[in-house]
Amino acid sequence: MSKFWSPFVKDLVPYVPGEQPKLARLVKLNTNENPYGPSPKVLEAIRAELDDSLRLYPDPNGERLKQAIADYYGVQAGQVFLGNGSDEVLAHVFHGLFQHGRPLLFPDISYSFYPVYCGLYGIPFETVALDAQFRINVADYDRPNGGIIFPNPNAPTGCLLPLAAIRRLLEANTESVVVVDEAYVDFGGESAISLVDQYPNLLVTQTLSKSRSLAGLRVGLAVGNAELIEALERIKNSFNSYPLDRLALVGAVAAFEDQDYFEQTCQAVIASREQLVSELQDLGFEVLPSAANFIFARHPRHDAAQLAAALREQGVIVRHFKQERINQFLRITIGTAEQNMALQEALTGL
Ligand code: PMP
Repeated sequence: MSKFWSPFVKDLVPYVPGEQPKLARLVKLNTNENPYGPSPKVLEAIRAELDDSLRLYPDPNGERLKQAIADYYGVQAGQVFLGNGSDEVLAHVFHGLFQHGRPLLFPDISYSFYPVYCGLYGIPFETVALDAQFRINVADYDRPNGGIIFPNPNAPTGCLLPLAAIRRLLEANTESVVVVDEAYVDFGGESAISLVDQYPNLLVTQTLSKSRSLAGLRVGLAVGNAELIEALERIKNSFNSYPLDRLALVGAVAAFEDQDYFEQTCQAVIASREQLVSELQDLGFEVLPSAANFIFARHPRHDAAQLAAALREQGVIVRHFKQERINQFLRITIGTAEQNMALQEALTGL
């Protein structure tokens, strides 16, 4: 620890991202990336942008991309906010949309970046326990709060909350902002973006990292009431006027325009998930119902940490969390049929 660190930095507990190993031969099922590459049209658009124009700043408002997203979801461009991955969008949301006088609520088993942002921005929070089936029960959120946030489907469980339950939550919490983090929604969920015009307290965040296979490009977005979006723009413009670079802007537009590729690859991931679930069940695993591009599974006779270590020795990386109540689960990203096969073979040998 340096003597030049301020007390603020000394107290920070940063988020630790999943491992990005260098070895290409590993079957990498630990950070929920898409096993299929991005649309060829995305690559084409990025290549076409690689010219002298890189000397110029990008559009600070990302108008073309906002319009492409607005057209896709049937909202106005003024209802769309852009960020460098949904992590950055969430950082601005935490910074500016949650009240500080009352606690922010989120599930006790959820995306581990939320408490990190609370620490960074000094936001008090309370976690709300998942029910016995590891689901979010919206009635448990009927308590004073300065905002609510949860992923849907939830991470790392993969469990989906139906839109009817989200409506109930919005109606019971009209005085605070409710954020639905839809990083994984395209693999089997229904987006709450259809509700933003009815509920001014709703903000939905999404990412191009998962269903559009662009984790490396860092593009995230939020859709909500124009006043919430304006608040986010104010914060962003006090921080960095250019959230997305030129390559990310054109690549993301192309990703939204190639609907066929998007649908085909999402369907392939879903089919691969269903196949993997049934194979794991045959091996004796209990698998939580997943609407995401990962599954959360435990084996009644194998310790999860040991399983993860044994898989790693055979070149397959999955994610294990030490957190109480879920420390006997493995979170496994859905790969291609070949990757699933490698996982299955590694497990069969144990
Ligand atoms: N929300 C959830 C629930 C996630 O799991 C992730 C991925 N780690 C993100 C947001 C952030 O994704 P990105 O910054 O790549 O958009």
